[in-house]
Amino acid sequence: AKEGGRDNYKIFQPYMAENVTKSATYERLIKIGLAKQQFHLVYQPKVFRSKDNVIALEALIRWDHPQQGIIPPSEFIPIAEESNLIIQLGEMVINQALTQIREWIDQDLTPVPVAVNVSGKHLISDELVPFIKQQLVLFSIPGSLLEIEITEGVLIEDIESCINVLEELKALDISISIDDFGTGYSSLNYLKRLPLDILKIDQSFVEECHRKDEDTEICATIINLAKNLNLNTIAEGVETEGQLNTLLQLGCEVFQGYYFYKPLAANKISALLTLTNPT
Ligand code: C2E
Ligand code: CA
Ligand code: CA
Ligand code: CA
Repeated sequence: AKEGGRDNYKIFQPYMAENVTKSATYERLIKIGLAKQQFHLVYQPKVFRSKDNVIALEALIRWDHPQQGIIPPSEFIPIAEESNLIIQLGEMVINQALTQIREWIDQDLTPVPVAVNVSGKHLISDELVPFIKQQLVLFSIPGSLLEIEITEGVLIEDIESCINVLEELKALDISISIDDFGTGYSSLNYLKRLPLDILKIDQSFVEECHRKDEDTEICATIINLAKNLNLNTIAEGVETEGQLNTLLQLGCEVFQGYYFYKPLAANKISALLTLTNPT
């Protein structure tokens, strides 16, 4: 949504002025937040079939505002996306995730891949790949420990740039998930052209998948599509045993959701990682 662009306001309307002020204020607060390190990551496990098999983590950003308390990403990511702040935030997220992985390795824990959410603007900015390369070297971490989650929208808008960037990420051994799959304007054609690894079934289809035929069908279709394209699937937002059993029957084996784990602080994650065998 580009309607936030200020130049589009041909006729002055008071409510618009208010919105512009609101995002300008917010942008200033985000900048201060970045400078004062008010952002941190929480990690939600991705499991293979059961709670005991944590195979990856998703890093989710949180803002600890000194006055407002914890501000959820839905409040500030859309505003950051209106400017280049989203790139600064994205770089900070990658840096924090790799810092954390390095810490786990140094504690002799066996790390699992960490997925970070990358916004479309950052993906096609030309800055993402060099930054990731530099950070992987800096922390001496293999790309195979990093995953990128991108939503469908950006992939369709600028498929040529995306193919190039994704190829470069793949060359670093980084895996690529399409987030919120099924909510965008999927065309099967672009799916074939992009070097992807994982389709992430959106929460909105998982919610009623065990009791609403249309949603069961949508999940089944996505799972079969992924199989045919040689991709993996993960279902997000799994909250109940009913949803889980339906998805297992449909052939999905990787899950993320409150039924297994909520997003957790890094120190809680340590207990879920196994100790690396002494050599
Ligand atoms: P998302 O990538 O689809 O992330 C999943 C969201 O669903 C997370 O909310 C997570 O806490 C929540 N969730 C997980 N399991 C369940 C469940 O079983 N039930 C329900 N009801 N919710 C569940 P969160 O952390 O508030 O993030 C919201 C969105 O903000 C994310 O959606 C993502 O689009 C964006 N976001 C979060 N962190 C970042 C980031 O570092 N960078 C960017 N660009 N976007 C981010
Ligand atoms: Ca995500
Ligand atoms: Ca998602
Ligand atoms: Ca979502």
